[in-house]
Amino acid sequence: MEMSIRPRRLRKGELLRKMVRETRVDESSLIYPMFVKEGTNQKEEIPTMPGQYRYTVDRVSEQLDALLDAGVTSVMLFGIPDHKDEVGSSAWAEDGIIQKALRAIKREYADQLYVITDVCMCEYTSHGHCGMLCGCEVDNDKSLELLSRTALSHIQAGADMVAPSDMMDGRVRAIRTTLDANGYETAPIMSYAVKYASAFYGPFRDAAGSAPSFGDRRGYQMDYHNSREGIKEALLDVEEGADIIMVKPAMSYLDVVAKVKEAIHLPVAAYSVSGEYAMIKAGAALGYIDEEKIICETAVAAYRAGVDLYLTYYAPEIAKFIKEGRIG
Ligand SMILES: [Zn+2]
Repeated sequence: MEMSIRPRRLRKGELLRKMVRETRVDESSLIYPMFVKEGTNQKEEIPTMPGQYRYTVDRVSEQLDALLDAGVTSVMLFGIPDHKDEVGSSAWAEDGIIQKALRAIKREYADQLYVITDVCMCEYTSHGHCGMLCGCEVDNDKSLELLSRTALSHIQAGADMVAPSDMMDGRVRAIRTTLDANGYETAPIMSYAVKYASAFYGPFRDAAGSAPSFGDRRGYQMDYHNSREGIKEALLDVEEGADIIMVKPAMSYLDVVAKVKEAIHLPVAAYSVSGEYAMIKAGAALGYIDEEKIICETAVAAYRAGVDLYLTYYAPEIAKFIKEGRIG
């Protein structure tokens, strides 16, 4: 006698198998991370992330048009400035790279595209840390002021949502307070609440030129031996006013996604980071794995674990596979 919850009868035939699927994937929940750099007429491939590029503002539309064609309607922008200094002043500059990109994108696409910006200091500071330094330590409280200023300048330049990734204590509340005080009560915050100190970020630091020049980020990112403190981080950020909670990376942290999903009532996002992408690309280039099948399997796994939003460099491919009925 068949005792499983999913009896053999429900596995008969493609149509029925699709009808009774537990996990649904929808392209409207995909967010594509994108790197924007200073200069003109450049589209520069990132060596450790084949197929991913750094675009100058005048060429971002090539990628944005392709995303919209595929059905992906949201991007997360990362800026690569020309100018770096001790405090990361180009993060909030009126003519900063993100601010320029936002104005250009919103001029061309208006509400067709939902634009989220990464809010952090590490791409803008000469030392590559995520906040302002006091000696060799990151000064949490002084950094809050700069992060708030950066978030506000993004919203003023047209960002639909800001996503602080710095992991300083109290930054969600600081940003919320600043946005509210300036009349942006409706601008949402997606918090990188549960961010692990991970070797999977390697290729990103190559892409954004943001590796710390000394020390590491373990002082403000989480130890991957622990998951319960992830719940605490998530709950704290909910209390501070976050609207969406992100877990990062994704693939090796799906247990954390599931736990966070249980613990909070807000949407949960997961970021499939550069190292996850690079690993699949490299394996596929060597012929060791089937790239398309692996993309489908890893994406569905994230949704099965509970993500509502999925940040991935494979967003256009996933949207295509959904359209083709391979997943969904
Ligand atoms: Zn950072």
